[in-house]
Amino acid sequence: MEAKEADAESDTGRWQAVLARDRASDGRFVTGVLSTGIYCRPSCAARHPRRENVRFFADGAAARATGLRPCKRCSPDDVARDERAVLAAIAAIKSAEQLLALADLARFAGYSPAHFQRVFARHTGLSPSAYARALRAERSAQALTSEQRVTDAIYEAGFSGPSRFYAANTQERLGMTASAWVNGGAGVTISWAVVPTSLGEMLVAATDKGVCRLSFNEGPDELARRFPRAELAEGDSAFAALLAQVVAAVERPDQDFAHIPLDVKGTAFQEAVWRELRRIPPGETRSYAQIAAAAGNPRAVRAAGSANGANNVAVLIPCHRVIRTDGTLGGYAYGLEIKRELLMRESS
Ligand SMILES: [Zn+2]
Repeated sequence: MEAKEADAESDTGRWQAVLARDRASDGRFVTGVLSTGIYCRPSCAARHPRRENVRFFADGAAARATGLRPCKRCSPDDVARDERAVLAAIAAIKSAEQLLALADLARFAGYSPAHFQRVFARHTGLSPSAYARALRAERSAQALTSEQRVTDAIYEAGFSGPSRFYAANTQERLGMTASAWVNGGAGVTISWAVVPTSLGEMLVAATDKGVCRLSFNEGPDELARRFPRAELAEGDSAFAALLAQVVAAVERPDQDFAHIPLDVKGTAFQEAVWRELRRIPPGETRSYAQIAAAAGNPRAVRAAGSANGANNVAVLIPCHRVIRTDGTLGGYAYGLEIKRELLMRESS
């Protein structure tokens, strides 16, 4: 059965995944090539067929039913076995008390460690050990949302002690220390300023770790609502140096601003989305579907859109570089005028 004369938009998304050799799309569909009689994973490394020769199928069985043969180069029929192995590994990681060694996970799946690491990363966007760390971080973030002491949350999430908790966060995540986002920012000082820019009034707020909020047409009242228990302080001269870098980034978004420190937090998936946004080069755009796939879950297009919208640091986490599959701008928290202007500045 052909992959359901699917609506044009999702076929467009599939074709984009093929063009991007998007490994995260493997197992979601196969690409049948009528001119050669074979079918491939979306990520197949072989030269791309012409679009008019391509038909999409739900899986290998559907492709074989029309007489197509599996590609020898990308072995599209192994995807299901890979997926089972990955799901089994995820279940093991979730229930394990200790971090599991890659060699053990691989042996359990019947793969070599190197091959298993590739297969796992293709499905989740992370290595098994990074996945385990992100899972623990997400569990502690959830625990922190209830009113409880940070140290309680740390032990509840299964860490042996505070030092390992902070180490895991600073190495793997965009980074906010635990106490900055528990209890509405209680005990944390946030410096802020509202400055005029060519895009309008801009609010910049930062902890001593980095920028925690960049928005337009907002002031200290909105900031206080977001961090109700933090101490808000108008920026001093130390803050001015950071502020100058941020203003420069907003005025020239085509320049590299990866050096500006950020202080944000989200779920593991939100942070994966934000990391992918930071990887979009200036002057380029991605679709929500591409971001979802790059963040490790191609079916989570809507969640990728929400993560995009939950971004607290405009411009520096360039959520304006995500547009609709059909090329229209989609939404933007601060209005399409600003989004259009940022994209124009980057493309010229
Ligand atoms: Zn192939």
